[in-house]
Formats: sequence, structure tokens, C-alpha cells
Amino acid sequence: MTARVLVVDDILANVRLLEAKLTAEYFEVITAMNGLDALEAVARNKPDLILLEVMMPGIDGIEVCKRIKSNPATQHIPVVMVTALDQPEDRVRGLNAGADDFLTKPVNDISLFCRIKSLVRLKMLTDELRIRAETGDNIHSMLRNEVLATAEQGRILLVDTRETSVERIKSALSGHHIVTSVDDPNLAIETAATASVPFELIVISLEQVKFDGLRLCSQLRSLEATRQTPILILVEPDDQTRLLRALDMGVNDYLLRPVDRQELLARVNTQIKRWRYTEQLRSSVKASIELAVTDSLTGLYNRRYLETHLTSLIEHFINRGKSLAVLAVDVDFFKPINDTYGHDAGDKVLQELAVRIRENTRTIDLCCRTGGEEFVLVLPSTNMAAAHVIAERLRKSIASKLFTVGQTPAIPVTVSIGVAALNNVEDTLDKLLKRADSALYAAKREGRNRVVQAAA
Ligand code: GH3
Ligand code: MG
Ligand code: MG
Repeated sequence: MTARVLVVDDILANVRLLEAKLTAEYFEVITAMNGLDALEAVARNKPDLILLEVMMPGIDGIEVCKRIKSNPATQHIPVVMVTALDQPEDRVRGLNAGADDFLTKPVNDISLFCRIKSLVRLKMLTDELRIRAETGDNIHSMLRNEVLATAEQGRILLVDTRETSVERIKSALSGHHIVTSVDDPNLAIETAATASVPFELIVISLEQVKFDGLRLCSQLRSLEATRQTPILILVEPDDQTRLLRALDMGVNDYLLRPVDRQELLARVNTQIKRWRYTEQLRSSVKASIELAVTDSLTGLYNRRYLETHLTSLIEHFINRGKSLAVLAVDVDFFKPINDTYGHDAGDKVLQELAVRIRENTRTIDLCCRTGGEEFVLVLPSTNMAAAHVIAERLRKSIASKLFTVGQTPAIPVTVSIGVAALNNVEDTLDKLLKRADSALYAAKREGRNRVVQAAA
């Protein structure tokens, strides 16, 4: 994995040191030596991560961080503050300014790379989701504001066997978050995996009295339900080896004991914000994909899907000399159904129709609602004769059983169907659909409730 890292420090020796370490690990490094240059470099170079010294003359690191995190164009870039060991309050100020993490000087190589890698990995994921969400709709800008609003009322699972430690953590988070605590690894897994509303963060004390905290981390990471849930661990300062193992496993963040209340709260908030951000992106992407291709009334594909996907599908079938058929389906006298029973009943008829269409087609068939009471079904690897049989079966299943919708008396519904099949290499989607449509009109002319084959 490689990434572009911006190193910001007003002391040249510090810049050079970090630059050398990062370059040796094949990161691309850009540098800036004051706050203003840093902001300019961020705008110009779009780094994947920023290592930012807190203490600088002029605009200091805290201010630079605030500006990066308040600009929608740059707020998703992870910022790691570099602080002096004897200035613990800087960490809290940095995290409150929106920094994603911090490192203390002298910077320890292993924790430097562990943190960079985990943040870059996360950024790659969110970049991907952002791009997809942005190409979908304007949902993203809307969502961004919502997400930035709050990290309050996070649902946290705390796994710790020491009562004093549990009390301390609970009191630091109380009023801000909802903490559920357990002192047994099996119970922790069960609670996390079966929660009706998923936990947004799991805090684990690595030093457990009765069991191995590291094992619990690995189990949570391999479980489907908790694979993505952020994990924050609490570690003894001399437990470097296990800390590295934990980070390797994909634990998201850590705090050294004794736990500083402010730092704990700030880090918990960061994790929860990040989780909510990613979750919203995920669901908005899912929603926009579904919205883009499905018809909300019936759940069938929509016309847009038909147009975008069928063109390439048809090419694929023509090139391989395979058969493919299309059914154009239109409800007979649907307007009178609406007029007699009401528009809502009409909608329910369309929904029931979609059910019968599904029942009479295979999963590989593409069923689309292309207009009010018009449907197009695409049947891959199906020739004209077979398509005719399917159309006839569908027609019968609709005509032979009255539609029961709500309180109204059962409604007789029939459909007319035009059938067309791929002809030769000259065929196109457009021609195929036109042939199916003419066959459909022929079926209407000939008296409805029937199937007509298109002329070849
Ligand atoms: P034909 O047998 O010639 O197809 O007659 P028809 O009445 O089905 O055809 P027409 O095209 O005249 O009417 C279609 C009706 O479908 C008109 C419109 O009010 C209704 N319609 C279109 N979309 C919807 C919808 O989403 N829900 C409901 N309930 N009705 C719809
Ligand atoms: Mg009709
Ligand atoms: Mg119609």
C-alpha cells in the first residue's frame, strides 16, 4: 500500500527525519514548513494523510487542523498531530480540533507506520464510497452535514473485568454516550453480534484478569456482524508487543493506561464520528444504487435499468450467437380499473401483477416496469417458441385468478403480450423492443388477453 503523505513541521531536521522514514517505506512525501503553506499544499496536492506538528509560529497545528476539518473538500483527509511528550493537553486540543490521531515525539517507527496504514486504509474505503455516493446524487452533501453534526449518544460496548476501571470509563463517558459493560468474552461476542441496534464502538481492555483480550479482538474482527465495528483498546504502556499485534489485527485505536478522561472522550468521539460517516455513506450508496435501478411501487427494475443494461446484454448475446427474447406486457383496460376501484387499488393491482410476473419467470430473467401499466421482460437464452410458452403461461396465471386488493371485490385483470426474439447479428435493442411493441398492439387489436408473436 502506498499513499501521499504531507509532513508539516517548522523545524527542517524534523521534516527531513519523517520524510526519510516514510520514503524508505515507499510513501510519497510532500512537505510544508508553516501553517499557511500546509493549507496550500493540502488544497493543491490532495494528500491521503497529514502529519502535523502542533507547535508552529503563526498559524499553529491546531488551527491548521480546524481549517482542514471544517472544509468539506478536505475534512475526510486523516490528520495525525505530532505533539511533545510533556504536553498532554495538546493531544486533547488536537483531537477536539478534529485530528484523527496523534503521535508523540520522538516518533516511534512501528506505531508511526501502524497508524498511518490504518488511517490510509480507512481513507481508501471512504474515498471509494464518496465517489460512488457523489456520482449517485446530491445525497452526499446532505449527509455530510448530518454526520458532522454529532458524535453524541454513541452505543458503546465495554469489555473489562476490573470494576474500578469500568467505573472510571463509564463516568468519563456518561452524559455523552450509552455504555454497556460485560466482563466475559463469550458474553461480549454474543452481545455484540445480536444487538438489535448495532454497537458503534467496542472498547476492550487488553489486560483482562480472566481471559486474553487479544483473542477477543481477533474473534470480533472475524465475525460478520462485528467485522466493521471500530475497536478501541486500553493497553499498559509496557505492553508494546501486544499493542502491535492488536493494531495488525485491525484494531482501530488505542489508549495507554492510566486512561486520561479527556483523551478517552475525544478518541471515542472520533471513532464514533468516523463510524457514522462510513455507515451513512454505505447506506446512501446502497439506497442510490437501488433507487437508480428499481421501481419503488413494484420492486421490479425500471426503464433506466432496462436502457443502460440491456444494450450491453444484447451485444453479449448477439456476439455469442445465443438466443434471447423479449416480452412486452400491457394491462388491458387498466384505466377503467382505476376509475372503478380507485387509484390505490390500481397500484395494488400493479404490485400483485409484479408478483405473478416473478412467479412465472426465472431469476436470470430481467423484469422491468417501463411505464404505468407496461412491463418488459427480458429472457436470456430463450428462443421465440419457448418465449411464447412463457408468455402464455404468464397470461393465464393473470387471467385465471382474480386480483384481491384490500376491501374491494376481487378484480378481473388480463394482459396482452407481444413476443419478439433476437434475429441476427444486425439486431439492436431498439429494433427488438419495437418488434415486441408492434406485436403487443396487434394483440390489443385482435381483442386483448392474448399473446402475439412478432414477425421475424
Ligand atoms: P388498453 O387495454 O388499451 O391498454 O387500455 P388501458 O386503459 O390499460 O390503457 P391506457 O393507456 O388508456 O390507460 C393506462 C392507465 O394507467 C391510465 C393511467 O391512469 C393508469 N396508470 C398509469 N400509471 C399508473 C400508476 O402508477 N398507478 C395506477 N393506479 N394507475 C396508473
Ligand atoms: Mg393498458
Ligand atoms: Mg399502456
